[in-house]
Amino acid sequence: MPSSRRSGKRPYAAPHVPLDLDRATGGRSSVSAADGDWVVQRVRGSDREYRCPGCDQLIAPGTGHVVAWRSDDLLGDGVAGRRHWHSACWQARDRRGPTRH
Ligand SMILES: [Zn+2]
Repeated sequence: MPSSRRSGKRPYAAPHVPLDLDRATGGRSSVSAADGDWVVQRVRGSDREYRCPGCDQLIAPGTGHVVAWRSDDLLGDGVAGRRHWHSACWQARDRRGPTRH
């Protein structure tokens, strides 16, 4: 009986993010990647939905995700280039790359 078993979730398997660091940085971090330097801001969730460039699916309102923008984009302040990603898609983007239109 599946209901008699404990949840299949294994909390200890989830990546642990130090809360103190999270608080100190406001959830924001800088990332240097093959495709440039990025600022990554974690957000708990928004009141609107966004389309994730990693999987081309919507991020539902209230879903925690990340906002990333280029920090080395000299053409602008970077804010206009903000993209909202599923956390997992952001972390996997090196393998998959963003969806091109
Ligand atoms: Zn996604």
